[in-house]
Amino acid sequence: MSEPSVFTRILRGEIPSEVIAETENAFAIRDIAPQAPVHLLVIPKTERYRTVVELAAGDPDLLSELVGLANAVAAEHSDGDFRLIFNTGPGAGQTVFHVHAHVLAGGLSEGSLG
Ligand code: 5GP
Repeated sequence: MSEPSVFTRILRGEIPSEVIAETENAFAIRDIAPQAPVHLLVIPKTERYRTVVELAAGDPDLLSELVGLANAVAAEHSDGDFRLIFNTGPGAGQTVFHVHAHVLAGGLSEGSLG
C-alpha cells in the first residue's frame, strides 16, 4: 500500500489545515502557497482517483459534486467568479496525485490564463 496523500492526511487531522467547507464526498481547504488572492483546493474525500481524467471516467457524479463545491466556496470567499484548474500530470505541474481542483478567484487579470 502506498502512503496516504497529503490531502488524506489533512482530512484525517494528521496535518493541520482548516477544512473550510465540505459535502458528503468532498472538502475544501486553502492552498498553503496561494497563487491568487483567493486560492482554494476542492478535493474528493477518496484518494482512489489520481487525476480528473480518472475521476471523470470513474465517478462523474463526484466530479460534479466537486464543481458544485468549487462554486460554493468561490461565492463564499470571493465574488463568485473563479477559475477551476486541474493540473493533470507532472508535466502540467501536478505534484499531488490525489485529484484536486484549484479554485482561483479575486483580482484575476482579464483575458489571461496565467
Ligand atoms: P498540484 O501541484 O498537484 O496541482 O497542487 C498541489 C497543491 O497542494 C499545491 O498548490 C500546494 O501548494 C498544495 N499543498 C501541498 N501541500 C499542502 C499542505 O500541506 N497544505 C495545504 N493547504 N496545501 C498544500
